[in-house]
Amino acid sequence: MITVVGSINMDLVVGTERFPKQGETVLGNLYTTVPGGKGANQAVAAARLGDQVHMVGAVGSDAFGTQLLEGLEKEQIDTQGVKKTDGASGIANILLSEGDNRIIVVPGANHELTKSDIDAQKKAIEKSSMVILQLELPIPVVEYTLQLAKELGVPAILNPAPAGGFTEAMKQADFLTPNETEAEELFGTNWELELERYPNRMVVTLGKNGARYFDGDKHVTVEGFPTQAVDTTGAGDTFNGALAVALAEGSEFKEAVRFANAAASLSVEKFGAQGGMPNRMEVVSRME
Ligand code: ATP
Repeated sequence: MITVVGSINMDLVVGTERFPKQGETVLGNLYTTVPGGKGANQAVAAARLGDQVHMVGAVGSDAFGTQLLEGLEKEQIDTQGVKKTDGASGIANILLSEGDNRIIVVPGANHELTKSDIDAQKKAIEKSSMVILQLELPIPVVEYTLQLAKELGVPAILNPAPAGGFTEAMKQADFLTPNETEAEELFGTNWELELERYPNRMVVTLGKNGARYFDGDKHVTVEGFPTQAVDTTGAGDTFNGALAVALAEGSEFKEAVRFANAAASLSVEKFGAQGGMPNRMEVVSRME
């Protein structure tokens, strides 16, 4: 079982021919709501690949909260660790125009998750073969979960996104998975050298070029799987969910990264963060 401790959001996607200027109103040409949040996305990625997933997080008492829970349950994800708060669910307001985006995230219920909510999940965490975290929850809660997982001897993947929330204490995570921008934010432009401090532990994702890590005596680039990308939203989340599944199954690090690259390459072929997340058979056939 994999436990994901992370954000659950509704993405409110609005498309327009051009972004409005300050004080201006324009007509849009698209409006859709799709479930998102890095935590929920990574949970869905892992569940589609066949692992049992226990989700820990929070949604609001609004209609989005109900929809978000139903969406997770449809993916066979156990939502008993998701609390319902009195307020609003987290949302991401995503404006799309001219191939570009502008995003505002309002954490809502996600920021009401507390250390005692994590304590209440201690049994589930103890039974897990991997815990996955990101940085869209209150930072003390992320640090506390990492510490608890360590005490319980359960390995943890920390996807340090958004990178601004990263703290020294988080370096204890068993696996770190920044993308290139986050790696630069965390470690500066010399992040490649930093990989050497985390042999077989830190893997930096490089978009279509795959991912890079250090194996103890050399830098290793695991090539991505070339494909026609339609929407790369959620590629990183798919990578993390898949990496967790493979590592939890005992795969060697390089093989786990290859599996994650294959899963993520499939995810970019369809619209939406969760829309393109593949099942196990699709990943296996891409790897052949
Ligand atoms: P996003 O924020 O778009 O979800 P990210 O910036 O967190 O993604 P990336 O490094 O862009 O993360 O991508 C994660 C992984 O997805 C890569 O390591 C790679 O395996 C896969 N991937 C991303 N883009 C492509 C692409 N165009 N073609 C094939 N694979 C891709």
